[in-house]
Amino acid sequence: MAETPLPTVPRAPLLELRGVGKTYGESGLAVSALRGVYLRVQAGELISIMGPSGSGKSTLMNILGCLDRPSEGTYLIEGRDVSTLTDNELAEIRNRKIGFVFQTFNLLHRSTAMDNVELPLIYRGLPRTERRRLAREALVVVGMPHRLTHRPAQLSGGEQQRVAIARALAGSPRLILADEPTGNLDSRTGEEIMGIFQRVNSELGVTVVLVTHDPLRGKQTRRLVQVRDGEIVEDEPVSEAEFRLAEPWARATAEATRAAAETARVTTEPEKVGAPR
Ligand code: ADP
Ligand code: MG
Repeated sequence: MAETPLPTVPRAPLLELRGVGKTYGESGLAVSALRGVYLRVQAGELISIMGPSGSGKSTLMNILGCLDRPSEGTYLIEGRDVSTLTDNELAEIRNRKIGFVFQTFNLLHRSTAMDNVELPLIYRGLPRTERRRLAREALVVVGMPHRLTHRPAQLSGGEQQRVAIARALAGSPRLILADEPTGNLDSRTGEEIMGIFQRVNSELGVTVVLVTHDPLRGKQTRRLVQVRDGEIVEDEPVSEAEFRLAEPWARATAEATRAAAETARVTTEPEKVGAPR
């Protein structure tokens, strides 16, 4: 008898929200932060979510990141309904599949750049040498191979955000969720950070969803989703004509390439003052 061909299952989107709502608080004082949100994100996308303060962007990101659960509707990751997953399984997804980046960087102040980047890998139970190798590689990707032993207070805002992106990348996530990642940075530094997200998306193939309220940043992604009062009011691709590559693209790439070439020389010892870069 002829073999029955396997049914071709269309690949599920990386993320899918079906009628998701989120209500905070008790009935009398309840706040409806999200209402009937439908959203599909395919693997490999570079997406921005825009909307005024209080429109539900962070609530949406918390649900996408499995930090919070919807009050209504269904959220699927790679076709799996997250409401069927245990807290341990959700923690595993957060640790292995998702990298988080925040407006205020959220680095541990007493720890070096290297130790901050290594942290998620400790939870994963990787041996120290492997952790340090992955952390160093991630710091190279964000152009920070020369600041391994600096603590956050010794770094500029842009450098701290690079470390935070390295921390998000170190575990090779499929998805990066960034909530207002350039919100605390001047515009030039914001450009550099956007350049890193664009590069992480195009060169490493990581799906990136970022929240912004700056229309310029929105045009630096491939798809712009607009949120008002907890609802998606617009969801459009950014046309090739409108899409703007971050200014420091070429420079950041050159920097990372040079840094990669130098990796062999990079050690975890404190850098020598005035050492050639
Ligand atoms: P955005 O990130 O777009 O500024 P948020 O998602 O933080 O918006 O908030 C959306 C709405 O939900 C706001 O009205 C906010 O006050 C409310 N909200 C957010 N988090 C909570 C919470 N933990 N408890 C109660 N209300 C909340
Ligand atoms: Mg917010």
